[in-house]
Amino acid sequence: MAGMTMTEKILARHGGKKSVRPGENVWVDVDVLMTHDVCGPGTIGIFHEKFGRNAKVWDGNKVVIVPDHYIFTADEKCHRNIQILRDFVREQGLKYYYDPDFVKNEPGMPNPYKDPTKTNYKGVCHKALPEEGHVRPGEILLGTDSHTCTAGAFGQFATGVGNTDAAFALGTGKTWLKVPPTMKFTFHGQIPAYLTAKDLILAVIGEIGVDGATYRTMYFAGEGISSLTLEDRMTLTNMAIEAGGKNGVCDVDEKTLQYVRKRSNVPHWQVERDDPDAQYIYEHEWDLGTLEPLVAKPHSPDNKDTAYNCRDVKLDRAYVGSCTGGKITDMIFAANILKGNRVKIETYVVPGSTEVHADMRRLNLRGVPKDNNEKSIEDVLLDAGCKLGPSGCAACLGGPSDTFGRLNNAEVCISTTNRNFPGRMGSTKSSVYLASPLTVAASALTGRITDPRDYVSAPIQTGTAGVM
Ligand code: SF4
Repeated sequence: MAGMTMTEKILARHGGKKSVRPGENVWVDVDVLMTHDVCGPGTIGIFHEKFGRNAKVWDGNKVVIVPDHYIFTADEKCHRNIQILRDFVREQGLKYYYDPDFVKNEPGMPNPYKDPTKTNYKGVCHKALPEEGHVRPGEILLGTDSHTCTAGAFGQFATGVGNTDAAFALGTGKTWLKVPPTMKFTFHGQIPAYLTAKDLILAVIGEIGVDGATYRTMYFAGEGISSLTLEDRMTLTNMAIEAGGKNGVCDVDEKTLQYVRKRSNVPHWQVERDDPDAQYIYEHEWDLGTLEPLVAKPHSPDNKDTAYNCRDVKLDRAYVGSCTGGKITDMIFAANILKGNRVKIETYVVPGSTEVHADMRRLNLRGVPKDNNEKSIEDVLLDAGCKLGPSGCAACLGGPSDTFGRLNNAEVCISTTNRNFPGRMGSTKSSVYLASPLTVAASALTGRITDPRDYVSAPIQTGTAGVM
């Protein structure tokens, strides 16, 4: 019998089977179910309707609720959603809820947290989940958000589900899955200083298209992936869904174990790896030495081109943020390019989580705790003229018209986010180019799409940022 992939092994074990094959349907036990302020209220409504008004969730220690999407807005419907989550958390006695405690039951724009270390609020769910210890190798994570696949960077099966599936899992702790076949993407060599994982995933999606991995596992392999930080690997798996992937995975290594051992709130988990004779439905290889900084042009993540080819594109705005590009390593990449310079266009920066925000104040440009006389990452970005907002999803998906950084007009924006469909970041008249934090920062300095090789000559150190 042929070997199995990591995903097949995880699904088999959680379904109480010795083995599974792609295409097979299997009932599996869910380790963690996550929901947020957009889909949480709908999920809770279905749960109450189908399981009863007095029903209890299957395991209160395995439900994680992270409000993150529409937090900093005066929109009352958004505030009502947060209240529904609060009521449910109280009703069920849930332990893992990250409340935006500064959102009071009163009209108007809430005052954001002053100190990111002194709020229960976290920010974007996909960043908060690993930070708060809810992500472990070999487990199954369901989330009511398509970018739940981000957690596959930690060697787990993580996928987005709709409100109905989430409500079913809330009541039973189970879900029914078809085992996806696996596509293997191998990167050879070490990551060059001018590339980040964003360039790698744009290369993949540009190669296979936005439906190229529909209901498949995307496995990112090779020493090129090992050379990435864990945070950068999250950028790869985050965007698996942009190619239609069911989930994305990376191998578990010392970097993964170090992170998870420090953070996990569960002591035991089981690492799974692909067997040497595991079967892949598709394989493609890249040499990192030959890859160039890339962008995805409007209006699709697979509309790939090189940053150099787009050098005549004039920009109105740059945006650094989201679960894809608002991690602390993304901030370090951007800050190293912006240091000592001034941005030429409006440049919005949104930390992916309050931990990222706190680290932007605590760390220097090399990703280690700063001395008293050193500038922090936040200092460097503010000195360069960036506008810094509180952590959250912000303009990544547009949101209400008062959302920080939202594209309300026909602006052309270069962004570290993951989607550039018409209207994704606000107005349907706007145009969004997706790029790495290096390319976004370099472009912010010139007002045109700029190849970061004009600014990066040596590897950018990120220290233990995002890990310790
Ligand atoms: S940051 Fe953007 S992509 Fe990520 S969860 Fe929020 S809205 Fe979705």
